[in-house]
Amino acid sequence: MKTLQKIGLLLFVVGLTQFTALTLMGEFEMKSQHFEQVAEKHGIRSSVFIQKSKEVFYRNSYLQLSDLTKGIENLVQLSNDHYRAAAREPNLSKEAKRAAYQKIIYANPKELTLDLARLSSVGWVKEHPNLFWWLSFGLGIIGALFFILPAAWNTVSAAEKNNKIYQTSATARGWVAWLVFAYLVGFYLLLYFAPQYSHHWTLILDPISEALNGGPASRWFVYGFMYCVVMLVMALRMYIKYRHNAYQLLRTSSVLFFQIVFAFLIPEIMTRLQLPATDFKNAFPLDYDFFFSWNLKNLISSGGLGLFILVWGIVLTLVVVPVMVYFFGKRWYCSWVCGCGGLAETLGDPYRQHSSKSLFSWRVERWLVHGVLLFALVMTAATLYSYFTGASSLWGLKTQSIQNTYSFLIGAVFAGVIGTGFYPIFGNRVWCRFGCPLAAYLGFVQRFKSRFRITTNGGQCISCGNCSTYCEMGIDVRAYAQKGENIVRSSCVGCGICADVCPRGVLKLEQGPEKGRINPTEILLGNDVSLLNLLNQKK
Ligand code: SF4
Ligand code: SF4
Repeated sequence: MKTLQKIGLLLFVVGLTQFTALTLMGEFEMKSQHFEQVAEKHGIRSSVFIQKSKEVFYRNSYLQLSDLTKGIENLVQLSNDHYRAAAREPNLSKEAKRAAYQKIIYANPKELTLDLARLSSVGWVKEHPNLFWWLSFGLGIIGALFFILPAAWNTVSAAEKNNKIYQTSATARGWVAWLVFAYLVGFYLLLYFAPQYSHHWTLILDPISEALNGGPASRWFVYGFMYCVVMLVMALRMYIKYRHNAYQLLRTSSVLFFQIVFAFLIPEIMTRLQLPATDFKNAFPLDYDFFFSWNLKNLISSGGLGLFILVWGIVLTLVVVPVMVYFFGKRWYCSWVCGCGGLAETLGDPYRQHSSKSLFSWRVERWLVHGVLLFALVMTAATLYSYFTGASSLWGLKTQSIQNTYSFLIGAVFAGVIGTGFYPIFGNRVWCRFGCPLAAYLGFVQRFKSRFRITTNGGQCISCGNCSTYCEMGIDVRAYAQKGENIVRSSCVGCGICADVCPRGVLKLEQGPEKGRINPTEILLGNDVSLLNLLNQKK
């Protein structure tokens, strides 16, 4: 078993190294039609950009990606300066000014570079995408399976499943964990803010993309594909680790199904059929750009199906989500359906013990998660106001600026870089706990109008603390168990791990009548922070 694991680790490292090296490899041979193709794809009308691009790059065969990026950024700047200056010319007619404004380039220069890099790439990777797929993805997947599965299989009894978790560098914030943290953060930074370096990743996934959606792979296709692969590999680990627990097996199958079918395959197939691609399970406000004008216009102009998606999105948020939370708690979404939750429950499972249980974290959590919800609602109000009135700002704030700020801070940095990158250090539900606006909304319903609760058979509790340790949402489950009090917390995602790791069968996730669901006890415990206050007040 140990040898198999060592081979697996070696294969995984080789695959990952190859995958990483792909970002730095490559040379580019520019042809004049590459610029025209990119200009057409991005709706660029600037003749300055196209002309100058040809002049600058055409003679520069086999240049490096960093040079290409810099060159394109400079050209976009040059072109935009030119047309902005032209539009300010006092003697110019209104039509000429409008024409000059229309030639300003709004596309992200890094996106333009990515497309140019794909088209002009020369060399081995472009010629042998399948070979490089196997050398990176293939070796990575096989290596991960060899490494992970024997370890999970060795867990012969349910009680052993977290043995040595605090003695292993990868799961105890040792150097391996910090290395994984740095890699994940780096990956997300590159994906969001330096997409041009993903050109080889897109090239090696082109065959799969073409088979699914009929077109070349984008960086988001790469991300979606990787997301599914990682979840699938780690779900196999979950199946073995939690094989004694039917709830975990079903839950893992559910998140896997919704991620692969709903979030990945259906949108790709819809793209192939030239229908508006949508993830039917992604509810607003997690799906924060659902009401952005480009999406509304796209849906409304797409006929019956577009209108159905629009109505479904609204019904999902306003009716389906709260009604389901009423009956089953927020677990039906956060632990059974959601993609973010799915990754947290599979890739993030080895890190769930890192969630902070301190009172300070709980205070930060409440302010932050509800703050993000408020931010999302204000942004959407401004967006809809602008959409219906045509005004570009609300309360003196530019709608576009609010959207850009939200997309950058919440959509990219919080949900992506911090949400997943910080798994090895702060636990697997950083985003769900501190940032997800949908979780905040579901939490309200769960706390105040739901049949869900975790019941505790306090007499059986031996205060081992396993439940609190492995609660990914930082809930001090043991404190409730000791008092025999039901757990009705807005943050609980119903993952069921607390019940799974409890050696005494104290905890049970249940639905029942609302009456008596919240049953605070009067018992004062030695570690109850309010005990001294009450004594001092002579109550
Ligand atoms: S209390 Fe239990 S079910 Fe709820 S999030 Fe924590 S571990 Fe999961
Ligand atoms: S409820 Fe179970 S896991 Fe939690 S402290 Fe009590 S015995 Fe331990």
